[in-house]
Amino acid sequence: MATLHNLGFPRIGTKRELKFALEKFWQKKIPVEQLQNTAQELRKKHWQHQQALSFVPVGDFSFYDQVLDTSFLLGNVPDRVENLEGTNLDNYFRIARGRSAIDTGCSCVHAGEMTKWFDTNYHYIVPEFTADTEFNLDCKTLLKQISEANILGHKAKPVLLGPVSYLWLGKEKDQSNKIDLLDKILIAYTELLAQLATRNVDWVQIDEPILVTELDNDWQQAITKTYQLLGNSPIKILLATYFGQLKENLPLLCELPVAGVHLDAINAKDEVSTLIDNLTTDKNGNEKIVSLGIINGRNIWKTDIIALLSWLEPVAEQLGKRLWLAPSCSLLHVPVDLNNEEKLDPEIRSWLAYAIQKLAELELVGKVLNDGRASCVQALADNAAAIESRRSSLRVHNQTVKKRVEAISDDMSNRQSPFAERNTLQKGIFNLPKFPTTTIGSFPQTTEIRQARRQYKNGDIDQASYQKLMQEEIQHCVDIQHQLGLDVLVHGVPERNDMVEYFGEQLDGYAFSQFGWVQSYGSRCVKPPIIFGDISRPQAMTVEWSKFAQTLTNKPMKGMLTGPVTILNWSFVRDDQPRSTTCLQLALAIRDEVLDLEAAGINIIQIDEAALREGLPLRRAQWQEYIDWAIQSFKLSANGVSDKTQIHTHMCYSEFNDMIAAIADMDADVITIETSRSDMELLDVFDEFNYPNDIGPGVYDIHTPNIPTVEYMVNLMKKAAKRIPAENLWVNPDCGLKTRGWAEVKPALENMVKAAIQLRG
Ligand code: GLN
Ligand code: ZN
Repeated sequence: MATLHNLGFPRIGTKRELKFALEKFWQKKIPVEQLQNTAQELRKKHWQHQQALSFVPVGDFSFYDQVLDTSFLLGNVPDRVENLEGTNLDNYFRIARGRSAIDTGCSCVHAGEMTKWFDTNYHYIVPEFTADTEFNLDCKTLLKQISEANILGHKAKPVLLGPVSYLWLGKEKDQSNKIDLLDKILIAYTELLAQLATRNVDWVQIDEPILVTELDNDWQQAITKTYQLLGNSPIKILLATYFGQLKENLPLLCELPVAGVHLDAINAKDEVSTLIDNLTTDKNGNEKIVSLGIINGRNIWKTDIIALLSWLEPVAEQLGKRLWLAPSCSLLHVPVDLNNEEKLDPEIRSWLAYAIQKLAELELVGKVLNDGRASCVQALADNAAAIESRRSSLRVHNQTVKKRVEAISDDMSNRQSPFAERNTLQKGIFNLPKFPTTTIGSFPQTTEIRQARRQYKNGDIDQASYQKLMQEEIQHCVDIQHQLGLDVLVHGVPERNDMVEYFGEQLDGYAFSQFGWVQSYGSRCVKPPIIFGDISRPQAMTVEWSKFAQTLTNKPMKGMLTGPVTILNWSFVRDDQPRSTTCLQLALAIRDEVLDLEAAGINIIQIDEAALREGLPLRRAQWQEYIDWAIQSFKLSANGVSDKTQIHTHMCYSEFNDMIAAIADMDADVITIETSRSDMELLDVFDEFNYPNDIGPGVYDIHTPNIPTVEYMVNLMKKAAKRIPAENLWVNPDCGLKTRGWAEVKPALENMVKAAIQLRG
């Protein structure tokens, strides 16, 4: 009899109920009681969805982020909120987002830093440490939720972020070393486990996802020490790892004196047998529980149950009662319920599974293992039919695309001449001043623009009226850029709601969900488009807009595209071919667009790779492989143009230290990057690396409403010129301006142009 469980359930709600309640609460439109009620209702619903499991996870719910919850659970709350008015929850929101609902005007505190949770698109609030950090356990909220689950008739399995991963994910705010806090934090965890043991709890799940990363000796020892201590607690520990393989950490895991371990059997399937063979007994001499994550918690595809069973049945035979089954990781990273997707094409829908459907798959596997395949003939046949339909669908497989990918040759990725030669040629053509000015692509997206797009989408206005509205907006953007005196213009992309969705909607092989929301951070969710099939471009996607815009000016009009790697990294991707193959297909589609733009007289083309860095694998050892195919994909998309065409790219960061050579290898004529916040410090990497091509280090931080002064921007550029030859520098904002208002953008760009003029002098 396999035990079924789950590592965590998405908290946001099928229709993003939590998001809306939070935002209303922050705007003081509902009282805290109402927010708490919504939360309680959601937990109740989510546990109901999991009631067929042996345990329900408790502690996976959060008002903002589970890492921030852990900080509050451990009493590691930054001093800056200590004496402020209000409740613990007010302070929680202050650290989460700079203010709580009771704060007015400028009485806000500086929010905790936010960063990506491993290789997901979820962002957590970074714990803060100093040498003096003390931990004071405050587990009321967790205990209350355990009682809540118990009262509803569920057996609770509390879910905790492990102490070592918690320390590892945080940041020192002084010169101390966070690992020195281990002894102190272990006192808090020991006390916590003792408390849980008094609450009708048999098992606690402790997550140590850092075990799938490369750990140095100190961190490995911290793991051993921690579980040697916590293993003595009166409660059974299931130690969970996910998102990757354990590799050199596997022997360490096998020896830990815990009662059970969970392994991501999607990413680390190869390690299952080694794990089983090498697990030691627990402290009482009992054989350990082996929990296998067999349903993919990171994608939206149905599991091929028959294929899974043929691998799993012998394992189940071997392990008997010691086998537990679960999704590979928390279901936080997938949308909640496919049943809401009424508009999705039924064939494509039949290939998908969201969180609730994934739990149904888990139950099916459990039933087959317990009662035999004969007990589930119909369900297995349905699953097999869906898998077969996807495998053989002509909508998925396009032979022309596959052949094109096979025929890709190296020379397609390289420009005709080296940068120096192109640069001379392009200088003659564009005749730009020194320190040329440009912007990153988007201009403020006003309510009118959004409304026009929505009306067109809903069929409330026809194509001709929509086109007219957009052209008026483009004219408006061009006029303003003329007034401001910018050198390389953009059309402002009013026709795009999102830099990935806009392209996805026009490419074959893409589908769009209505409710495929996944939490990105706090109340923010994203709805990644779904790549289900081979990608091709039936027709030009941006050419008409760019061509029109170019007719409005004698200055160069920059074409604006999203690069293949960014499109890939911000989509749900196929699991039936390598990511690299999908990326090459996207690259060919973008290449076609680049060549069409060039043929239409657009001589400067920007291809954004905002999310290139996000795709880096968790383990450094695997970085190079990713970098190789990602850079190849970019080059394939960009470098088919003639020497006269200038290629720009843009990235929303500038932590290039570990991949600067690869960035240079992309060979874009101009790259614009984000730097202003760091006071150009991030450009240090250019001290050692001679970056050969042109660069525009952003001088205007578009993430704040502040208007930078001329002096400030001149100063930043001077700092940049210390590291990069002045003749290679461009002057531009950090990123696109779509989230800003014209009232800020106009004076800011006016100052930016003045700064460039001053620099020329
Ligand atoms: N070209 C895009 C814009 O200007 C870039 C956005 C981004 O980098 N996130 O909006
Ligand atoms: Zn950007």
